[in-house]
Amino acid sequence: MRNKESTYGTGGNAIGVRLTLMYIALAAICLAVVTQPLLNDHHTASDIAAHTAAAAIGLAITAALMAFLSRKITQPIRQLTDIAEEVADGNLDVTIPLFCKCEIGGLAASMRLMVSRLRASTTEIRQLANHDLVTGLPNRYRLQTLLERRVTSLDAHGNPARGAVFFIDILDLRKVNDRFGHESSDRLLTSIARLLIEASPCNSEAENQRNSAGPETDRPVLARFGGTELILSVPDMVEPAEIAALADRLHAAVATIVEEAGRQFRPKIAIGVARYPEDSLAAMKIKQYAALACNHAAALPVANKTAVFQMEMMQQIKTRESIERYLRTAIAERQFEVYYQPKVSASDWAVTGAEALVRLNHPERGVIGPGEFIPVAEMTGLIGEIGLIVLDEAIGQCAAWIRAGQPTEVSINVSVEQFQTEDFSGTVIALLEAHQCPAQFITIEITETLATTDVAGVAHEIAALRAAGLRIAIDDFGTGYSNLVQLTGLKFDILKVDRSFVSGIDCIGRSREVSRTIIQLGKNLGCRVVVEGTETPGQVAAAAQLGCDEIQGFYFSKPMKRIDFEAWRDLRSQNTVYAGLDALVSRGIASACA
Ligand code: C2E
Ligand code: MG
Ligand code: MG
Repeated sequence: MRNKESTYGTGGNAIGVRLTLMYIALAAICLAVVTQPLLNDHHTASDIAAHTAAAAIGLAITAALMAFLSRKITQPIRQLTDIAEEVADGNLDVTIPLFCKCEIGGLAASMRLMVSRLRASTTEIRQLANHDLVTGLPNRYRLQTLLERRVTSLDAHGNPARGAVFFIDILDLRKVNDRFGHESSDRLLTSIARLLIEASPCNSEAENQRNSAGPETDRPVLARFGGTELILSVPDMVEPAEIAALADRLHAAVATIVEEAGRQFRPKIAIGVARYPEDSLAAMKIKQYAALACNHAAALPVANKTAVFQMEMMQQIKTRESIERYLRTAIAERQFEVYYQPKVSASDWAVTGAEALVRLNHPERGVIGPGEFIPVAEMTGLIGEIGLIVLDEAIGQCAAWIRAGQPTEVSINVSVEQFQTEDFSGTVIALLEAHQCPAQFITIEITETLATTDVAGVAHEIAALRAAGLRIAIDDFGTGYSNLVQLTGLKFDILKVDRSFVSGIDCIGRSREVSRTIIQLGKNLGCRVVVEGTETPGQVAAAAQLGCDEIQGFYFSKPMKRIDFEAWRDLRSQNTVYAGLDALVSRGIASACA
């Protein structure tokens, strides 16, 4: 409220006082004019006094009447002034009375109209300021206020409130944006946000809006953080089992095919979770930690990419950042080296080819394996350049072996990000031509994840590569990424059974039966089946017994430098060092397991 003791409408400034004073002045002049003849006509003093008293009484009565009337006029004006001040102070819910059908009533009606328009535009401004225009979800600013309130609030017992913040990144949205434009990615984002709301405790969009608008600090809210990222704040949730269950529900909710612009998408998300008060009592930190955990989750080689924040992640991030910085130097100076791991035939143990596996030769740390830098390269977009170096090197090497009379098939790993770059098949075909390498000697290994995103786009690239004569292998098969229905929509030539199945392959039991089924599935699809990760003679023998075509693993050899691989391959062609395996295969699995 403004200061009511201001000079407006008080003391000599009040309309009522001014009118009354004006009237008194006028009346005094009239009185003087009226009493003048009385003085001149020699009236008695008592006559004059009686007249003057009567005039004075009349004067006093009309003055009082005047004061009353002017008060009647100024009171509504004062009331309207008070209302205007309330509006100015932000109260748009004031009631403006009807007053009379006079000018003041007209003024009040105008004020009512003004306040209702002000109310509508304020609501719109608030909506714009607090909500994301694309999804309609509360935006980052609203979320900041909400989180600050939440993490600093106390529960019914006076203890700090507890809760979890889920940082959700929609992994392929940026690519949709790049390839199909903003409108498509906006619509996809909105559909995904809806699916997430329904699977979360927010229940519905309307409830989510209500939860974010009210003062309560114990309601779940989904907000858009920015770009491809959403944040779900869930009060009263800190138990790991509860968090894991909700994260799984969110993953399951988006793992559905979404149609957009005539194309089918299977969205994938990564979820990072931070908790208050455990991890921090500052809203900014909670968000930062949840985002860190989300980055961590995105690099996990599993279908449901979820990670709960732990302090060690801070150190991992630092290491990752230093790798990222270093990768740029490594690319510029071509510090990558391609190693080769042999694949052998499951029927006669002859070398059938090699898998190209990249390493980074760090001047101080020595050889760094791909598990450490490939995920960083994928996240930072550097994988395209590294992948090109590997393709160039491996295709060149394959051509050199053919020229040297030692033809060896080479399989090359390709990341999802790399496979989806503009005209990937064209790049590979151009490299084959440049090195004069026959396409049938090269296999491109892709993971099942690739097969589940943008099926149409992937199928198109696969078809182009196969038409050129290359083979396509599905790597790490069975690690839980794949949707068999989608996978059967793709044409591929080789199926590589993941090494996680190999540990129990030589014992009678469930894992052996699962391996048998997967190998059979591959064969039924008309594929060559490779079992990778065999370390013991028992595992090799079991894989061969179950009918796979090729075997790869440390039992035969670890990945080697080119020169060592060549020596190993040449030696193998002269010796049958694996003769003992034949006996093991024919003896049968029960004895191999005992
Ligand atoms: P991958 O394609 O499944 O390659 C097989 C991995 O399993 C290799 O690890 C290999 O050394 C390891 N391995 C093979 N046999 C055995 C065994 O008997 N026991 C055990 N414990 N491990 C075995 P590596 O070389 O560390 O590569 C890891 C992953 O990095 C590869 O898995 C592949 O996904 C990725 N990668 C490697 N090179 C490239 C590349 O040039 N581009 C891309 N995009 N990814 C690559
Ligand atoms: Mg591979
Ligand atoms: Mg593999």
